[in-house]
Amino acid sequence: MPQIPTEQIPTIYHRRIGDIVVTALSDGALERTHEMMNDVAEDEGRRHLDAAFRSTFVLSVNSFVIHAGGKTILIETGSGDYLGPSMGKLRGNLKAAGIEPDDISSILLTHMHPDHSAGLTDMKTGAANYPNAELVIHENEPRHWFDDGEMARGSEREKELMFQQARDQTKPYLDRMRTFTDGELLPGITAVPCHGHTPGHTGFLIESAGQSLLIWGDTVHMPEVQVPRPEVTMTVDMAASERMLVTGMHLHYPGFGHIAREGSSYRFVPEPWQQTL
Ligand SMILES: [Zn+2]
Repeated sequence: MPQIPTEQIPTIYHRRIGDIVVTALSDGALERTHEMMNDVAEDEGRRHLDAAFRSTFVLSVNSFVIHAGGKTILIETGSGDYLGPSMGKLRGNLKAAGIEPDDISSILLTHMHPDHSAGLTDMKTGAANYPNAELVIHENEPRHWFDDGEMARGSEREKELMFQQARDQTKPYLDRMRTFTDGELLPGITAVPCHGHTPGHTGFLIESAGQSLLIWGDTVHMPEVQVPRPEVTMTVDMAASERMLVTGMHLHYPGFGHIAREGSSYRFVPEPWQQTL
């Protein structure tokens, strides 16, 4: 008898932007309870879930490899061993895509939160998971997470999961950390600061040969729910007005698409699978 599949296939999806190829790789997904959706009232959250034929919020977590100018650049490292068995799948997916950790020359982070940065370092040995990579991050991020006063004001959970995690994970990269405020970070990759989610939260605009892609970080956590925070609305509004191709860390995999205006709200329109590269 032929065997039936028992595991999902690796998540590897390539999207060409001019001369650059962007590879989307999933780190996995987390089921989240309503309590973690701080900005949305419970009945409103339920309505959005119902409309999307879902019973729970699923937080998808994606990373992106940018193949540009002979370099292999990683945007976000996923969560490593930090967030349980439904997560931490990035390294296996990188391998399946034929990318070795040694190949990565730069790591760009939209911000330091465990689902984005906890895969930087092997927490058992303290060694960098990407031994040849520089770490590129907005200057507000280390300034905030390394600040003892800010840490003292955080909840116990924030102290451990956010502040201490950020410090431990960046430790082996401190001598090759490059901070920025804005501008072009690497050929074809420009910082798009959209602070609010964290003090240095930054998206990345990928541009090549007249084509572009906005990787907007955590601008949207739950594609089923539009959260009316000002910085969210601004970025989403820009994407809608300029008809930009967008993707994000928490759009459901592979997560490329456009933003359509619908009355006073917005809708994410996923792009069909591209059969050619
Ligand atoms: Zn996140």
